[in-house]
Amino acid sequence: MKLSPKLAKQSDPYGGFLLWTTFWRPNPADPDPEMPGLKQSMISYVSLQPEADCMCGSGRTYAACCQAKPLWKPVCHNPDMLGYSVLVPQEARFKTVEAKTLKARFDDIRLAIVEDTPTGGFWIYWGNPGFETEYGVIGFGDLELQEDGTLLVTAMSDARMQALLDLLQEIAADCLDTPKMSKDPTPVIRKPRKKVRKKRNWGRGKWKK
Ligand SMILES: [Zn+2]
Repeated sequence: MKLSPKLAKQSDPYGGFLLWTTFWRPNPADPDPEMPGLKQSMISYVSLQPEADCMCGSGRTYAACCQAKPLWKPVCHNPDMLGYSVLVPQEARFKTVEAKTLKARFDDIRLAIVEDTPTGGFWIYWGNPGFETEYGVIGFGDLELQEDGTLLVTAMSDARMQALLDLLQEIAADCLDTPKMSKDPTPVIRKPRKKVRKKRNWGRGKWKK
């Protein structure tokens, strides 16, 4: 991961966090603006007071945790906007699902269908209620039913994946097998070096002979 020059300018390396967010919104240019719509990910900077809870989710204060660290570990909102977690991109792969039954089960208020084919589909997990922002509705994870019957669930953090697995357990446990899980390492961004201004000593008498 790399910081854009604009974001680097906005970000105080020792005063806040980088927040990853994915938004979905309708695309007015499409015949059906709701499908597939526009999906966009964004990194923004969030400033944080030293005594505030650290956004990495450790339970410690920012000052006692991530503030002085040389690397940024970007975070994302937990489902229902209940705090934050460090990014751990991951997927769960379910094999041999019965597409028709599963699609019927996915007719759930917490999921938004944005692609619909006879045997496949794509859903975004919004939760209930969904969180509208100026950029669109916040997505907390994706579910893709592939043509070969695989259900691919992707999420950016452990908390998000757990919420998706809990949801699947609730609405579709009988059509799904045990998933194959895989995780990517947490992306990191090296913080720019702190600029230390050299103090000049213009003390009295310095230039006197
Ligand atoms: Zn921390």
